[in-house]
Amino acid sequence: MNSEVTTAVRRVVVLGGGSAGWLTAATLAAELGGDEPGALQITLIESPDVPSIGVGEGTWPTMRATLQRIGLSEVDLVRECDAAFKQGSRFDGWLHGGAGDRYYHPFTLPHGFGDVDLARAWLQGDRERPYADCVGPQPQLCDAHLAPKQTTTPDFGGVMNYGYHFDAVKLGQLLQRHATTKLGVRHVVDHFAAVRSHQNGDIAALTTRQHGDIEGDLFIDCSGLASLLLGQHYGVALRSEKGVLFNDSALAVQVPHADAQAPLASATISTAHAQGWTWDIGLPSRRGIGLVYSSSHTDDAAAERTLLEHLQRSGLSPGEAAPRRLRFSPGYREQLWHRNCVAVGLSAGFIEPLEASALALVELSAAFIRDEMPAERADMALVAKRFNEAFAYRWSRIIDFLKLHYVLSRREEADYWREHREPATQPDSLRELLQLWRHRAPSRNDLYRIEEVFPAASYQYIVYGMQFEPAVRALRADRLAAAGACFKDVKTITRRLLGALPRHRDLIQHICAHGMPPAA
Ligand SMILES: Cc1cc2nc3c(=O)[nH]c(=O)nc-3n(C[C@H](O)[C@H](O)[C@H](O)COP(=O)(O)OP(=O)(O)OC[C@H]3O[C@@H](n4cnc5c(N)ncnc54)[C@H](O)[C@@H]3O)c2cc1C
Repeated sequence: MNSEVTTAVRRVVVLGGGSAGWLTAATLAAELGGDEPGALQITLIESPDVPSIGVGEGTWPTMRATLQRIGLSEVDLVRECDAAFKQGSRFDGWLHGGAGDRYYHPFTLPHGFGDVDLARAWLQGDRERPYADCVGPQPQLCDAHLAPKQTTTPDFGGVMNYGYHFDAVKLGQLLQRHATTKLGVRHVVDHFAAVRSHQNGDIAALTTRQHGDIEGDLFIDCSGLASLLLGQHYGVALRSEKGVLFNDSALAVQVPHADAQAPLASATISTAHAQGWTWDIGLPSRRGIGLVYSSSHTDDAAAERTLLEHLQRSGLSPGEAAPRRLRFSPGYREQLWHRNCVAVGLSAGFIEPLEASALALVELSAAFIRDEMPAERADMALVAKRFNEAFAYRWSRIIDFLKLHYVLSRREEADYWREHREPATQPDSLRELLQLWRHRAPSRNDLYRIEEVFPAASYQYIVYGMQFEPAVRALRADRLAAAGACFKDVKTITRRLLGALPRHRDLIQHICAHGMPPAA
């Protein structure tokens, strides 16, 4: 039966209780919920029968502000989610797979970024030391297994920029507790079975097995890869990116550290293999390791052998449990907000986890919905249009950035790598940027929108980490001297930090035992 479309937007229903659902519900509730007149009532429906995906354990630095803004403490995150600090990613074997093939994409911007053209100065030099090592201390701090902050640094503060590694399931539990007990989110544990629609095609309510119809004005689809509302109910198609980024499968394992006091990595280690690549995320109590691969280029049995060989080479025991297999269709929905339904998280789309951008997109989506929340249904189409435009742009930037890692590789041993370099598989936008970067460094002019997902500095770390060789104009002598002074500063700061920062594992143990000074 149809009912009338309401005008005021007051009731928000989130379908799905994975990381996307809880982060979105908490983000909205922390600022738009409460008891005041006009406050939003937020209900989250989570099936008791469908587990959340349980992977997604590396974040960007943006997660610090997100968690702080919803009122969580970093101490709780470390204690309850087996969390550690992530200072960036290390890429092993991506260029040619031979000895010494590794580089970092650190989270901290190059020293003096925007003021001094360090990239040009580095390109003019002998390039004996990697770009990232010359422009900031973070690669060396990661190599030394040091933390990005001290025991006296407050909650969410950093000496270096950082995000997190954590246990995704435990994060979901922490967010759920916080959102329901502190932020007033109503939690309905029930299986969604059907949509009840208004005559105009809007969703009026979600019908559940035990709790009947849950009515709402805005519905946020966080139902995971199934995309129950946007994909299945509305039939909004997935725009496939399989022709650009081939990976559509993953095998994931959790393994113990080689010993309980083993150094704790503070970067995600992404290692290239003949067919795909592995992630390695170090949590205080275990490591989460997985292989990402393309089912069109290798079969599951061969992929499993690759993963096991990688574990053996890393001195790790795979344990009894078989790796968990995950399948996904790389791509994103043609529209992300349709009528009174917006998708956040895997229901909106997913491209392989290289560079761990999925949770960052969840944070950006939730913040956009919070900031642009339409007061009335009549305003929703405009907000939806703006959301669709902003996020289509962000997806395309993510695709360019991930593809860059493959396009610049010189690995030759398999079609997987050769095909990734074929021009027909490369987005025009990326090819245009690479043409520009043959004669100059990636700059802010290339990526000028507010809250670009990857800033120009990130592109610099990848293009020079992958030894892309541009022919740049020589810097004037005085600018070269300024850059030289910057490089010297970096060396001094690095030496100082190597002596001053605690071991990453020691800091985690300290936080578990004593906490951290509160945020300023
Ligand atoms: C191999 C792999 C590695 C990844 N690594 C990273 C990473 O390092 N960093 C990163 O940022 N992201 C990563 N991601 C992505 C990340 O896992 C997701 O973006 C994140 O976990 C959010 O998932 P979700 O909440 O959208 O979906 P899910 O976790 O799948 O949650 C779906 C929710 O919907 C509910 N649901 C489903 N059906 C129903 C129903 N009928 N009724 C009611 N509820 C229902 C389920 O109960 C569940 O609560 C990775 C993904 C993969 C596949």
